[in-house]
Amino acid sequence: MDLIVARGREDLVKARRTGTVALVPTMGALHEGHRSLIRQARVRADQVVVSIFVNPLQFAPNEDFSRYPRTFDADLEVCREEGVDVVFHPAAEDMYAADRQVSVSAGEMGRVVEGASRPGHFDGVLTIVLKLFNLVQPDLAVFGQKDAQQLALIRRMVADLDLPVEILGAPTVREPDGLALSSRNRYLSDGDRQVAVALSQALRAGAARLTPAEIRQTARAVLDEAGPGLDLDYLALVDPATFAEVSEDYEGLAVLAVAAKVGSTRLIDNVTLTLNPA
Ligand code: AMP
Repeated sequence: MDLIVARGREDLVKARRTGTVALVPTMGALHEGHRSLIRQARVRADQVVVSIFVNPLQFAPNEDFSRYPRTFDADLEVCREEGVDVVFHPAAEDMYAADRQVSVSAGEMGRVVEGASRPGHFDGVLTIVLKLFNLVQPDLAVFGQKDAQQLALIRRMVADLDLPVEILGAPTVREPDGLALSSRNRYLSDGDRQVAVALSQALRAGAARLTPAEIRQTARAVLDEAGPGLDLDYLALVDPATFAEVSEDYEGLAVLAVAAKVGSTRLIDNVTLTLNPA
């Protein structure tokens, strides 16, 4: 079957076949991380829909919406190679009416950690994801652990709003030196690229320690060593269900998350670890 490019609901309805449908939402500029999500979807579903949409609602006015990479032709080629059935590529004006009023609130969990640095970001993310679910009507959807707070909030939305979609999380795909793949990595200069590896190094070093205090301290030291080329936004050790900072006696899974600007590019990364195992 040839790849179908859908622009709106009518195209999606026409393209729909019987069987299980999986959705992989993306903003395009597809890389190996996206490919791994698509492969996970392919294994689980009869029909795979990839959405490619740079969502203006999740960017603040001072952020990189206009600079965000748009490589649609190359993305289509990736989707063909991966056996994707439908690429949903709507126009922004078709997704958001000028007089729109209603949107999704991510609640308190949307205002901490990444949400504290990017006010309104997760409201924008959840609003587009809910719209995509309503348009595509998938049985399941795949999201990357790379955006751990986003994945947790999508699970929360599905639970809180009773959405009939199964959410699958996919592990973070990394460069051989540990840098998490990101569409934004293409903006790193050679010098930036060398500095950027400090994010994953800090997470790995932190995750090797045992207590929250040691974990935070160790990760922080690696980030400090990276020098002035790395402008730390936050380092957080949080409960994956709420993204609240964990206390020293916390037990169970935790997420160590970092965000930093390297040159003019903002990068995020995280690892999951277990604290005080019984
Ligand atoms: P984006 O196009 O950056 O909005 O990402 C689309 C989806 O791909 C999200 O669910 C991301 O979490 C996921 N993703 C991005 N980078 C990676 C990566 N390095 N490994 C795995 N998944 C990723």
